[in-house]
Amino acid sequence: MIQKKLLRLFFGNKIISNPASKQKRIMTKSSIISSVITGICFSGSLYAQTDKHPNVIYIFPDQFRNHAMQFWNNKGFKEHVDFVADPVHTPNIDKFAKESVVLSSAQSNCPLSSPHRGMFLTGMYPDKSGITLNCNESRPISSLNKEATTISDVFNNNGYQCAYIGKYHADFPTPNNPQNPGTYVSDEKPVWDAYTSPEHRHGFSYWYSYGTFDVHKSPHYWDTEGKKHEIKEWSPKHEADKVIEYLKEKRSADKPFFLVWSINPPHSPYRSVNDCMEEDYNLYKDIPLSELLIRPNVNPALKEKQECAPFYFASVTGVDREFGRVLEALKELNLDKNTIVVFSSDHGETMASHVLDPKNSPYTESMNVPFIVRYPKVLKPQVSPLLLSSPDIMPTLLSLSGLKKEIPEEVQGKDLSSYLKRKNSKKGMPQGVLYIRNVDGEKTKEGIVTSYFPVARGIKTERYTLAITIDKKKQIKDILFFDDKQDPYQLNNLSVEEHKTEFEILCKQMGLLLKEAGDPWYKEKILSDKIIY
Ligand code: CA
Repeated sequence: MIQKKLLRLFFGNKIISNPASKQKRIMTKSSIISSVITGICFSGSLYAQTDKHPNVIYIFPDQFRNHAMQFWNNKGFKEHVDFVADPVHTPNIDKFAKESVVLSSAQSNCPLSSPHRGMFLTGMYPDKSGITLNCNESRPISSLNKEATTISDVFNNNGYQCAYIGKYHADFPTPNNPQNPGTYVSDEKPVWDAYTSPEHRHGFSYWYSYGTFDVHKSPHYWDTEGKKHEIKEWSPKHEADKVIEYLKEKRSADKPFFLVWSINPPHSPYRSVNDCMEEDYNLYKDIPLSELLIRPNVNPALKEKQECAPFYFASVTGVDREFGRVLEALKELNLDKNTIVVFSSDHGETMASHVLDPKNSPYTESMNVPFIVRYPKVLKPQVSPLLLSSPDIMPTLLSLSGLKKEIPEEVQGKDLSSYLKRKNSKKGMPQGVLYIRNVDGEKTKEGIVTSYFPVARGIKTERYTLAITIDKKKQIKDILFFDDKQDPYQLNNLSVEEHKTEFEILCKQMGLLLKEAGDPWYKEKILSDKIIY
């Protein structure tokens, strides 16, 4: 009886009433008791497998558009969006979406690899996360703020075991060979790719990662000890095997885990079957481009980009399959009910819509990302119009994991977990989110970037997208202004003169958000004749 009470205290009623065989129940109980005893004796283990502190898996492919998921065309989902989904096969994501909270309007505020990763890791906007531009060897000013407490630091400090698998791309490639300080672990000086030495891993005690590298069928990784692994296999498949191996063999069974899996595909190049799996390409190769690119905003001038479509969709389908294998492993290990699984991406891909640049623009297809959260014990499936920003991810996940009080004070994102739980319906939801675009500022003679220039800022609301680009004199260069309800494919750039009232309201809202973010536009009062700070 005392044992039972003790078990209830630590683990709630559900484990005890699990409909397992009697023998299995006894086994489970005794292993739980030993966990509890281990936990009491060696501290830090009390959170294992509890309702209060669930496991968390955050999975984000690169450049995966929200539109590239088949379920958006299905009943129960299509009523919530103004677009038609791409003609793509995503059976595992479709099934997962039915079991999850699905956000129709999650936004990547600065839709570019490194800045998004900085916001996800720190819960802060680029100027504070330290990652204002894509990280590479010419941009020492863009690197994760050393003082920042990241999401993994918080999980690690609170009894979780943290693991990172896949692309990292959140650091300037510093000389980083722990065995030989002042040198690099690579044969050549890294330009984009980087090894992350242990002191830069922010609480991730299991590591199988690289900086950025786009040869999808010959990826490489550095492991926890810094050993390099060169693989001859499509990277998502290899990484899914590593995730499953981690779940089955590598993790500490007496701690909850926080696992990040950052998948590079669907990432350029998407030009041949060297970039994706042939079995997936075969699903799309005989379909005319006009039936793959069905949107009215496809730019007929972008012929070469259009030809990427079958390879892009093949990459999406391949990622879906590997994602499905990981979900299957979770179920097999009986971890599925008490694990928060998030499927998202770092930004979208315009895939021949509008302009050549597939990201780093305010267009919906660049900013709008998948954001699907499954947590069977707590969240009821629903589709929500919640406008989630990249910095909101960290506080929201910490809060869902019972660590609301541990959210660092400097975090700028909002804890939006109550909206995922449907407590407040739409009331109080964010009314708008920021769009941020930075470019290189001043450079040395050698081409080293010494400052960044905040070239464009904007706001996305439920109805509108507004983005203002400035010139070097910080005067308006151009404006993109769309009514996303009337014009979901953003074909008609509205005249500011004809929509003066809406423009003024949006500028006022944008001013408030820039102030909250402590953005350079607020600090320098850029365009203060239009934007109220
Ligand atoms: Ca990216």
